[in-house]
Amino acid sequence: MSKETTRNKTYWLETYGCQMNKAESGFLEYELQERGWSQAGSPAEAEVVVLNTCSVRKTAEDRIWGRLGFFKAEKKRHAFRLVVMGCMSERLKQEILDDAPQVDLLVGNFQKHRLVDVLEHGDEAPVADRSSNRRSPHHRSVHQEAHLVDPGEYRFAERHSLSGFQAFLPIMHGCDNFCTYCIVPYVRGSEVSRSPESIIEEIRRLQSPTDDPTRQVVREITLLGQNVNSYSYREGDRTIVSFSELLRRVVPILQDKTWLRFLTSHPKDMSVELIELIAAETALCRHIHLPVQHGSDRILEAMGRKYTRGHYLALVEKIRKTIPEVSLTTDILIGFPGETEEDYRLTLELMKEVRFDDAFTYRYNPREGTKAFELGDDVPEAVKQERLSGVIELQRRISRAGKRRKLGTVVEVLVEGVSKKSSAELLARTEGDEMVVFPGSPDRIGSFVRVRLKPLEGSTLRGEPIGE
Ligand code: SF4
Repeated sequence: MSKETTRNKTYWLETYGCQMNKAESGFLEYELQERGWSQAGSPAEAEVVVLNTCSVRKTAEDRIWGRLGFFKAEKKRHAFRLVVMGCMSERLKQEILDDAPQVDLLVGNFQKHRLVDVLEHGDEAPVADRSSNRRSPHHRSVHQEAHLVDPGEYRFAERHSLSGFQAFLPIMHGCDNFCTYCIVPYVRGSEVSRSPESIIEEIRRLQSPTDDPTRQVVREITLLGQNVNSYSYREGDRTIVSFSELLRRVVPILQDKTWLRFLTSHPKDMSVELIELIAAETALCRHIHLPVQHGSDRILEAMGRKYTRGHYLALVEKIRKTIPEVSLTTDILIGFPGETEEDYRLTLELMKEVRFDDAFTYRYNPREGTKAFELGDDVPEAVKQERLSGVIELQRRISRAGKRRKLGTVVEVLVEGVSKKSSAELLARTEGDEMVVFPGSPDRIGSFVRVRLKPLEGSTLRGEPIGE
């Protein structure tokens, strides 16, 4: 990189996909700003444009290809460096090298933490840098190295963004489950757990007192991992720190009132110990996101989920008995290869039985390189769409009925921002991860407020602040 380019030190960062990507982008921004970079007002003003990409669904990749087209045109208007980082750089590196000459740097998931060094001292580049020698064997070996990196070499960022009242902290990286439809284990590698000291140190830092008036007090911390229930860190020779043990260590260090959340749980690994801990510790939000994916044992097996419908229902029963006020949300994947009407019916039945508070529903689309890809994609798109609509409609009814049952109750909410519909109203979230809208001024953003729940408008809960 030339001196001319580094002088300005402005960046534009776009993040696609999951919370893990958002957390890693937070770390990148933190590091860039620590080293004197500032955020550009628009891509056109940036010296460096970074796309932190997602490969989980084809729609995400299509969107990013669209952005690459946009930046190709932008490059004709002004000079900047275009960086593609994250899962697409892992999965589609050769396609990007072949078809997107506008991309200057490709940064895989195991190299993200080195990006700022590379931007500032291009000579240390550990990533594929087209501007040096695009087709050299060295270039290819660099990429292969990225793929063969030992999981232990993944480096957790020590700090994430220091702004805002919500913090997302990765505690694990990668996944060992290899659900047959999922690309994550191939692009993020095997599971590796971050040390408890590093997690605790970061939380202490996030909540430490500050004279900086722009820094908000952190009120909500979300611990992130593809499957947090399998968190496992070996301390010394013998002791294994489990996820429950990690939570037991984190809860006492939280300052003042803080909500602690975690994402994502896997039904095969969710322990009774963890359920009882959530019931016992008020700092742990009474919300569990427990992706079921499907209601048919045949499909669950083909998906490689490693639990049955019966196991899932028994787990839900245990959770509801132990934490009666819990909010349960899920993911449901429709149209997996071989899915029949009967499989679909079983999914609807399971939804009616569990009565999830909310569900993220999506259509199957094949990801090359996964095991399910070899099964073909035999459920016609129109059928997938029809079934998906049925699932969405059922969930909408269940969610509305669940919300109606809560009307008149008083709940505590954390204010997240101003409503898009009215600047006189605030958007807040309950412990159970439900949005509530109520009148108030923006100076309450980042604080807890008690509200009484009023009748819904559409599917949105409305509230009335208490004691005002
Ligand atoms: S648990 Fe399954 S769906 Fe989740 S990231 Fe791992 S392989 Fe993908």
